Amino acid sequence: MFRWERPARLLAALAVTAVASGPAVIAQSSANKRVTANDEDFARSVKEWTTRPDFISPLVDHLPKVAGIPSPKEILGHHIGEPKKLTYYADILKYYRALAAASPRVKIVTIGKSNENRDLVVVFVGADESIKNLEQYRTYLGQLADPRTVTSEQAAQIIAKAKPLYHLSGGLHSGEIGPSEMLMELAYRLVTEDSPIINAIRDNVIVSITPVADPDGRDRNVDWYYKYGINETEGRTTGAGVPYWGKYVFHDDNRDINYSQVEMRALLDWYFQYPPPIMHDLHQAQTLLYTFSGQAPQNPNLDPILYGELPMMANFEMAQFAKYGMPGVWTHGFVDMWSPGYLAFMSSNHNGMIRMYEIQGFSGANTQKMRLNAGQAGGRGAAPDAALAAAGRGNQAVREWYRPWPATGEFDWSLRNNTNYGETGVITALQYTSQFPKIILENFYVKSRNSMETGRKETVAGYVIPSGQRDMTRVERLINLLRMQGIEIGRAAAEVKLQEGTFPAGSFVIKRDQPYSRLAKTLLEKQVYPDPNLRTYDDTAWTMGMMSHAEVKEIADKRVLDVAVTPVTEKEIHLAGTLTGSGSAVAVAHYGSNNMITLRYRLKDLKVQAVEHEFRQGDVTFPAGSFVVSGDGARVKSEVEKLGLTAVGLPAPPQVPMHDVDLPRIAIYSIWGNTQEIGWVRYAFDKFEIPFDLIYKERVKKGDLKAAYDVIILPMQGGSGKRVVFDIENRGQPIVYKKSEQFKNLGMYGESDDITGGMGLEGVAEFEKFVTAGGVLVTLGTASYFPAEFGLARRVDAARTSAQFYAPGPIVDAEILKPEHPIFYGYDKKTVPVRYASGPLLSVQTGFNPFADTPPAGPPPTPNSVLMRYPGGDEHVLSGLMRGAAEIRNRAAIVDEPSGKGRVILFAGNPCYRWQNFGEFNMLFNTVLNYNDIKTVPERPATPTAQPQ
Ligand SMILES: [Zn+2]
Repeated sequence: MFRWERPARLLAALAVTAVASGPAVIAQSSANKRVTANDEDFARSVKEWTTRPDFISPLVDHLPKVAGIPSPKEILGHHIGEPKKLTYYADILKYYRALAAASPRVKIVTIGKSNENRDLVVVFVGADESIKNLEQYRTYLGQLADPRTVTSEQAAQIIAKAKPLYHLSGGLHSGEIGPSEMLMELAYRLVTEDSPIINAIRDNVIVSITPVADPDGRDRNVDWYYKYGINETEGRTTGAGVPYWGKYVFHDDNRDINYSQVEMRALLDWYFQYPPPIMHDLHQAQTLLYTFSGQAPQNPNLDPILYGELPMMANFEMAQFAKYGMPGVWTHGFVDMWSPGYLAFMSSNHNGMIRMYEIQGFSGANTQKMRLNAGQAGGRGAAPDAALAAAGRGNQAVREWYRPWPATGEFDWSLRNNTNYGETGVITALQYTSQFPKIILENFYVKSRNSMETGRKETVAGYVIPSGQRDMTRVERLINLLRMQGIEIGRAAAEVKLQEGTFPAGSFVIKRDQPYSRLAKTLLEKQVYPDPNLRTYDDTAWTMGMMSHAEVKEIADKRVLDVAVTPVTEKEIHLAGTLTGSGSAVAVAHYGSNNMITLRYRLKDLKVQAVEHEFRQGDVTFPAGSFVVSGDGARVKSEVEKLGLTAVGLPAPPQVPMHDVDLPRIAIYSIWGNTQEIGWVRYAFDKFEIPFDLIYKERVKKGDLKAAYDVIILPMQGGSGKRVVFDIENRGQPIVYKKSEQFKNLGMYGESDDITGGMGLEGVAEFEKFVTAGGVLVTLGTASYFPAEFGLARRVDAARTSAQFYAPGPIVDAEILKPEHPIFYGYDKKTVPVRYASGPLLSVQTGFNPFADTPPAGPPPTPNSVLMRYPGGDEHVLSGLMRGAAEIRNRAAIVDEPSGKGRVILFAGNPCYRWQNFGEFNMLFNTVLNYNDIKTVPERPATPTAQPQ
């Protein structure tokens, strides 16, 4: 049993001596000599706010006071960690700018703007000399990142002169408020403190800081805290979090594998200018501090050096915390090293090191009671242990080999405790880095060099993405996403002949003898999950070719490394579309491009028809769904070229049936309690220029939906039909989400006088009226429970998989049963890869007669309303893990159920997932474009008559 006192007072005393006690002289090189003292007010306050003596270390129980250098309190009005005080982003920036203005040890670069126009910055902190020569240091890192630019002798010389850049990032998740506060104090300490540990860090390491990775969400969450959270007490909580963090997403900014969100993209672009060997994201969820060590399942493409480095640093931290007498620090046992989509993976994907902390904290700054009982799961305020237990990660109050000293019992937890743990951890990580700066740089260089050698040493030598694919717009996007990540791509100068096949001139060639060769393989290969018994924290699959429905050929033939190519030098390529021939109208081929819908909206004032059967014009085949556009040929040509489409002028209209491509009035429906998956659909609609209204229960309850909308989309939300209908529980008080003079960040993307209660049954009735009056209701993923369970699609059943079933985002086969249905315009294969979204197991009951004497012989017929289904079984899992794949065998993937004058289209999957499954987006877009041209096929009789043999 551990005592709550420091286990070794002697050690603590030693640490204090090693740090700073009493007045110290700050090393000066460019400013006047200034005597520093420790800030007594700080020490007193921090002691008061720290709820137990063992929740603080000698690294952070004091703060120097230096004339001329503003401490956080001098700018913000309070010390970091004061209860009930959170800082808005503008004030955080104000602090760093004041610090930079006062000290040559700080420099700020602006790297972009957030969605809501806030400045995105990176703050550098280091010795005067480091900051003065930052340009030189960044050049060194760039040279180590690309071993082709230097010989190994030169690399050794560079390592001798260079310094590691250690990047810290707070506020990626807006409810995880502590680290963004703490980092200000850390920056000040790194500038001002004169102690052996800090001096070594300042001299040997350059620290860079993302103060708040999602500043829009930060401010909204701080507003919410001051409006609601600050008044919460135990047993009396608001019962709902703020409906939005960033404009589109919540936690998924840490799973944005294609860097769609501007804040994440800005950081990636910055990354290539200063490639930091270490990137460390500071989260806030576990008890009391979890430090990531890259546990299994691990991405096998990454360098074994990395898998040695990760636990080394994590174990050092765990030991130091124990030495300082601070309980509850652990490693292993939480996040694994499988998905490369976490933000800090930016670093390990590029031969550096990802690091993460999860620090105990709350979404606000109130001090709260924690109860950690080894016999029970969790406690109030503790991490979501039920979820962890479900994920096999266990109770955090229990001792494990990786958690030698768990926190247990009952205690208060304060924002300052969170600061103490976070800052002690980060200083410790920096201390380690300052002791082994050359090893870290050497490893960074060697990992980069090893990555270059994989092409010759490993089986996979490269990838070819053939030119001349039917739809090149998705190939273009794929190339640009790879280029964005720094992957080098060339275009074959001539036809390429390899063991794997012959590819036309102009094909894209990715050779695995480049620094980011490992990343290319990670993104393009089929994910082979190592052990079906292992759980993972996020998706098991992301194979980009499959997600895009684009052909990507894996090449083992080493000759690929010597294929003559012209390097793609542009950051983004553009493959222009073509319009040949002339005529009064233009046919635009529908090859499955997501840009078709953009074209339709850009030409919204022109007559556009869709052909219902394939036809040929010259040597071009126009499949069903192709557009025939009349009028303004010059504009059509210009848009076709910009959008990368294939078009031919028509002397006469094609002799096939056609229908008008009318533009529907679209609403996207959102509950208040779960807006993120909706955000991804909104993002895609915004990017493809599809206008829509975002509506909530407030609009639905007003009724008359059909008068305003033709199509209503329910993206994934809620997880069950009941959650869609009843949403956030009402606890007696309304929860208002509205903009006000005091809370300017609330009421964005929707307003409500009370976000609780859901649409209720009256809302269901309005949806029913909408459909029977001719509206098209489209439900995605788990939202498809709603029409099945609440009778809007009466014949459809939505079941759940068994407890043994486990499928974190694999890519599986889906079989198209009704290829003539407009949803499949542009698809030319009967079986397509789709991402499995763990939505409902859909089935449709037809022709079932409970009074029949004998059931019909043979398997029941597949109802006509089932448009696509999952063949199921292990043999149809294309990438990633699906445990229990037989459970989805022949389950419906898309159902089109007529109802009254309208219809409900249920997707079991999510055709618009996180800016990833571009090959499926088109199914949703086709639904929108052909909403009033879907023909209902009469159902076959239940007992089929004898078929001729
Ligand atoms: Zn987080």
